[in-house]
Amino acid sequence: MNATPRQSTTEPHERQAAYAYPLPHDEAGRLAALHALEILGTPREERFDRITRFARDSLQVPIALITLVDTDRQWYKSCQGLPNDQTPRGVSFCTYAILSDDIYEVTDASQDPVFSDNPTVTGPPYLRFYAGQPIRAPEGHRVGTLCVLDRRPRQLTPEQRQRLRDLAGWAELELHAVTVYRAARETEKLRHRLNSVLDAAAEGIVALDTAGTVVLANPAAEKLVGWHEHGGLKGRDFHRTVHSRHTDGTPYPSVDCPVHSLLQERGVVTAQEDTFWRRDGTPLPVRRSAATVTEAGQPTGAVLVFEDISLEQEVTRAKDEFAAMISHELRTPLTSIRGSLALMASGTFGELPTGPLHDLLDMALTNTDRLVRLATQVLDYERLSSGRMPLRRAPASLRDLVSASLDTVRGAADAAGIGLEAEVPSPITLHVDADRIVQALVNLLGNAIKFSRRGHAVTVLVRRSTEDSTVYIDVTDTGRGIPPDAVGRIFDRFRQADSSDARDHEGAGLGLALVKSIIEAHDGTVTVRSSIGAGSTFTITLPTSDGTEPS
Ligand code: ADP
Repeated sequence: MNATPRQSTTEPHERQAAYAYPLPHDEAGRLAALHALEILGTPREERFDRITRFARDSLQVPIALITLVDTDRQWYKSCQGLPNDQTPRGVSFCTYAILSDDIYEVTDASQDPVFSDNPTVTGPPYLRFYAGQPIRAPEGHRVGTLCVLDRRPRQLTPEQRQRLRDLAGWAELELHAVTVYRAARETEKLRHRLNSVLDAAAEGIVALDTAGTVVLANPAAEKLVGWHEHGGLKGRDFHRTVHSRHTDGTPYPSVDCPVHSLLQERGVVTAQEDTFWRRDGTPLPVRRSAATVTEAGQPTGAVLVFEDISLEQEVTRAKDEFAAMISHELRTPLTSIRGSLALMASGTFGELPTGPLHDLLDMALTNTDRLVRLATQVLDYERLSSGRMPLRRAPASLRDLVSASLDTVRGAADAAGIGLEAEVPSPITLHVDADRIVQALVNLLGNAIKFSRRGHAVTVLVRRSTEDSTVYIDVTDTGRGIPPDAVGRIFDRFRQADSSDARDHEGAGLGLALVKSIIEAHDGTVTVRSSIGAGSTFTITLPTSDGTEPS
């Protein structure tokens, strides 16, 4: 395994010599590992010198070295008994020692076929004996040796060989310590950088372990929930400390909390609006997002980011109030205009001639109706979401509510050529504000009709859960469907799946927001499943009262 000769670059008396020497099979990786240690050329260090001193004295040799075998030189990190600090690789004994794992020993170099003509044997320092134990870089490459040399032939006893191995192991540890120190320094730098980021973040950032205990909280998190001057959040059960009550103040068991569920199951949960509770017992409206943290695929906890949205809520409330005020101011004169137009159209003050005047009056009536509807929706939404519209709850038959809703939209359905079908299997009593539930159903039915094709049908299907006292009301159409990217936002105010809907389908995007407010005020939910071209199903869930009504 002889390699191409290498030329020495260091010592004048050896420059003329060009010696062939073997290369280890991992030479490229070995050199990379050696250079990564960044130790070549560094000053002498006592922690290495004490090893070579000890090797020299305990093995009773004049020379002991810790060498590192570089591209074409051998450099001494520690040296006892030689004047120079490196030799060309071509004349080095260690070049051979790093080829295998155990001690490489030359008992009499003058008689050795490899070394007999070596200039360090034929000339100063007239070496005869060499024994070197390789030392490895952390990745396992043999990068150098701990070696002992003598000017006399000799042979190590088994005990001396063991000592050389032990001391080489010590040297190896010292070599690795460099990387450990360096890694610790890097980790410290990284930790510092991470802390600066966490300190500067305006959002609260909290890390939880699998038990839900806070293991890390940035200053913003502790300040937002008022724990910054009270020992911080670290070590506390997060849910019990800041999330143990719902927005309405009712108890919130951790088993129901979606953030808590992330501690065991992988996932991400977000909430645009939620309530945390400050240490002083006041509510903190937040937007939050949490994700499971995993190590080797196993959940090790979760990280939670949250921000204070009280100002945002304040602005939204002010906007809603303003819109409601304008709507209120508009609705009164609009209603009176509508009344006058309706009277004129009815012919009470004389028959109107057919033709353009009649058409204009019809158009004025339609548009006034639309404006009144819009103003009413804005007002209703604001009142419902601000809690200024108390629900007048009373026992109501779901069958009656569905019928009333269908009756309301029948005219529109007929005009559009859409059939209406309903299935309410068993009589069910709800404890609800009947007008509001009809309003919600009418909104869903109205949309279903609007977005269906002539000749198709819209169905209302009522199902009842056998496990709990929940009723499901599905409003299904086979119309155009809602694009997946729009599904998440159609329940927001003034949102349409398609920007042309406001113009083409007469709507301000308030209907579904209103439905959501009404249903949530009844402790229910409203969701949608839809596929493009195949239609949509909006599902309302509501808690039933104590059971069935007499049939
Ligand atoms: P609008 O009063 O403008 O109809 P909504 O809040 O009721 O507003 O609905 C918002 C948007 O959601 C609609 O403009 C439409 O884009 C979409 N949408 C609602 N229901 C349906 C449906 N059944 N099929 C298809 N798209 C629908």
